[in-house]
Amino acid sequence: MKKDLYLDFDSTIVNSDKSFCRIYNTHYKDYENFVPADWTKHSNWAYKNICPLIHEHEEHPIKTIQDYYGSKEFFDHLEFYDHAYDVLSKLKEKYKLIICTSAFPMNASKKVLWIEEHIPQVDEIIILIDKSGNGYGKARVAMMEDDAIFIDDHPKNLHSTNASRKYLFKFKETDYNGDWDGEIVSSWKEIESLLL
Ligand SMILES: [Mg+2]
Repeated sequence: MKKDLYLDFDSTIVNSDKSFCRIYNTHYKDYENFVPADWTKHSNWAYKNICPLIHEHEEHPIKTIQDYYGSKEFFDHLEFYDHAYDVLSKLKEKYKLIICTSAFPMNASKKVLWIEEHIPQVDEIIILIDKSGNGYGKARVAMMEDDAIFIDDHPKNLHSTNASRKYLFKFKETDYNGDWDGEIVSSWKEIESLLL
């Protein structure tokens, strides 16, 4: 029987920060003090360091960030991390692929449709929508099947489940991914050699 492999979506399979920065750069390009956002410098979950104009000009910056994540533009330009697609195709032979992702009401359906269109290899999609925005990490999903594996870019999510093997996807250093002393992967090639 195939083992269960749980995978986060944003900033684990796809480069969400890059797509986010693209929207910011289009929207704010004519504003005073505009500096193009560089996704490789992303380190704060609310994009304070690379997209400061959101925090300067928007009354509800977090709502604006959620709107970006729910926009058609965001999904139109969403890209896989290098080799993610090919490695997922290979992993499918050996694992049941389950995407486990947090979402907002306004981006959940677009996210599912994007996954359907671009990653048909996926067997199951679990979407967690906590309307308060506080959330329980991914604790609602126990991941207690034998040898279940979970890969996520956020330590809080990894800590919140009971998967037997957990890996932090650490593409780059951020101010929220330091709290982790477990195993780390930093590319999909690494995931390939580890799990296949
Ligand atoms: Mg993520």
